[in-house]
Amino acid sequence: MRGRAIPLVLTPPKGRGKPPRHLADLSLAERAAAAAELGLPGFRAKQLSVHYFERLVHDPAQMTDLPAAQRAELVAGFLPELLTPVRTQTADRGTTVKTLWKLFDGALVESVLMRYTDRATICISSQAGCGMACPFCATGQGGLQRNMSTAEIVHQVVVAARAMATGEVAGGPGRLSNVVFMGMGEPLHAYAATLGAVRRLTDPAPDGLGLSARHVTVSTVGLVPRMRQLADEGIPVTLALSLHAPDDELRNEIVPINTRFSVAETVDAAYYYFERTGRRVSIEYAMMRGINDQDHRAELLADVLSADGRGTGWTHVNLIPLNPTPGSKWTASDPADEREFVRRLESRGISTTVRDTRGREIDGACGQLAAAES
Ligand code: SAH
Repeated sequence: MRGRAIPLVLTPPKGRGKPPRHLADLSLAERAAAAAELGLPGFRAKQLSVHYFERLVHDPAQMTDLPAAQRAELVAGFLPELLTPVRTQTADRGTTVKTLWKLFDGALVESVLMRYTDRATICISSQAGCGMACPFCATGQGGLQRNMSTAEIVHQVVVAARAMATGEVAGGPGRLSNVVFMGMGEPLHAYAATLGAVRRLTDPAPDGLGLSARHVTVSTVGLVPRMRQLADEGIPVTLALSLHAPDDELRNEIVPINTRFSVAETVDAAYYYFERTGRRVSIEYAMMRGINDQDHRAELLADVLSADGRGTGWTHVNLIPLNPTPGSKWTASDPADEREFVRRLESRGISTTVRDTRGREIDGACGQLAAAES
C-alpha cells in the first residue's frame, strides 16, 4: 500500500486574490450597512436577500420591486457571479447531477446533487483542492489551491435549491432538504468560511436559506481543536468524522493528519461534540480490501468508540465501499468481509449502515472529485 506520498498542507497557500464580496458573505445587518455605504437605502439589501434566499430569483430582470435605476448597482455590489458552470454530468436517470464550477480566479471545484424519493442532498466543496493528503482520495492527491469564501460555499447550495424548485432535476419540482460538506476540501481547515456558510444555510430567510441544522452535515478528517470549537458554537449541525482506521499505526498511513492528532484524541473530540450538541456523530469508514476491513479491526473499532465507558448510543458507523481513484492501489472490500464487519459492529451494539454510493460512473462519488476540465 505505497501511494505516492504528498505532504500535509496546514497553511493555505498565500498570494491568491479574494473572491468578490457577495451578499451571502454578510449577515442581514451587515448587508444593510454595505448598502448604506453604496449610498442606497438599507431596506434594499433586505429586498435583495428575499430574492436570493427566499424566492431563489437571481435574474435582476425579475426583481421588479427594485427601482430599475438602482437594480444594476445593487446586483453589481451584492450578487457578483461567483460560480461559472463548466460542465454538468448526470447519472441515475438524471437524479444525480455533478457540476464542475470555475471560480473567479480560475480555480475549479465540484458539487453533486443527489435526489432520493424522500429527500434531496447537495454535496458541496469548501476548498479548491485539499491539503489533507489522504492517499486513497482523488481530491487529497491533487493538493490544496485555496479556501473558498462563505458565499462561494453557500452559492453551491442556493443554485441547487433553485434547480430543485424549478424542476430542472429529474422528478419534477421539489425542495432541497440536505447539505453535506463532503465535496472537495476539509471544511474545518477553512473554518471561518465554513462556519459562516453553516450560519447562512441555517438562518431563517431572508437572512439565510432556513435549512434545518440537523439536515446539514459537516464532515471532517479530524482537526481536533476545530471539532471542539464547532461543538461550542451552539449550532447543532451533524458532524461526520472520517476515521477509516481504529489504530494509530494504520491511520497514520491512510489519514495523514493522524500524525498530529491520535485516534484516541480524535474520538474524544467527536464524543465531546455529541455531549455538547446532543447530535449523534457519524463515523465514516471507507472499506479497503485487506487494509482496514479485517475482523480484528471491526472489534478494535468497537473498542475505540465505546472506550472510557461512553457506550455506543452516541455514534453511528457509516461504511463507504471504496471508490476507485486514479493511481490508487487500494480496492473495495469483498462483500462477504463487509457483511462480517457490519455484523461484528452490530453485535457490539453499534448502529451501522453501508453507504449507498451515487455517481461512481461520473466520478462523482466519495473521494472521486478531482475537478479536472477534461
Ligand atoms: N475532508 C472532509 C470532507 C470530505 S468527505 C473529510 O475527510 O471528511 C469525503 C468522504 O469520502 C471522506 O470520508 C473521505 O475520507 C471519503 N473518501 C475519500 N476517498 C474515498 C474513496 N476513494 N472511496 C470512498 N470514500 C472516500
